[in-house]
Amino acid sequence: MTLLADQIERYSRQIILKDIGGVGQAKLLDSTVFILGAGGLGSPAAFYLAAAGVGRLVIADSDQVELSNLQRQILHTTQRVGESKVLSAKKALQEINPEVNIVTISERITQENITPILDGCDLVLDGSDNFSTRYLLNKACLSQKKILVSAAVLGFEGQIATFAHGVDDKAPCYRCLFPKPPEYAPTCSSAGVLGAVVGTVGTLQAAEGIKLLLGIGQNLVGSMLLINIFDNIFHNINVPKLQNCPTCGDNS
Ligand SMILES: [Zn+2]
Repeated sequence: MTLLADQIERYSRQIILKDIGGVGQAKLLDSTVFILGAGGLGSPAAFYLAAAGVGRLVIADSDQVELSNLQRQILHTTQRVGESKVLSAKKALQEINPEVNIVTISERITQENITPILDGCDLVLDGSDNFSTRYLLNKACLSQKKILVSAAVLGFEGQIATFAHGVDDKAPCYRCLFPKPPEYAPTCSSAGVLGAVVGTVGTLQAAEGIKLLLGIGQNLVGSMLLINIFDNIFHNINVPKLQNCPTCGDNS
């Protein structure tokens, strides 16, 4: 793929990075990323991927924009309260970068519809907020050989990890980390979250995604970055593969 003059200008600040260059930019323009959720994590992730020129973004969310979303879900506006989140997201992203192809899916992700959705996607970003959806996406990434960048936030804290079990059978999956859903899993709607914390973690998902698409830098496969914005502590922990994991283990 040859870059056009206006593409060279638009992406000049990342094309001059030696790890990206024109070849890396062409690769991004030729990539497809699936983003589950046009909410707090999906907003910064989609904004930065679109701005960076990832050629095709497939975004799924079945919700409508609510006033209480706007404190952190920066794809949406006061004027678009009541609209479908994916259509609101598409408007915001095309204003930043009209050359990105935005595919919107306004239905819930299920075992039945996930396979055709992930077909043709190079990478999966999970911005969902519940364990059943995360498990479903994790399993689909295993069977369809996709790399999954998973993240979660609550209060002033967040976490992000990459699961490459679909392409490397020695790599752990999301369920190796959380074999069973916790009995008590507080949500942002019940326990609260700071918008800037979600923004930080969603932005890290975008950066991790770009690095994975280009095969550059140190990724988060086999580890998880824990972020505590309240105390300004970032640390990385190992995520081992679980031998009897219900999704990727020996007997699964
Ligand atoms: Zn596993």
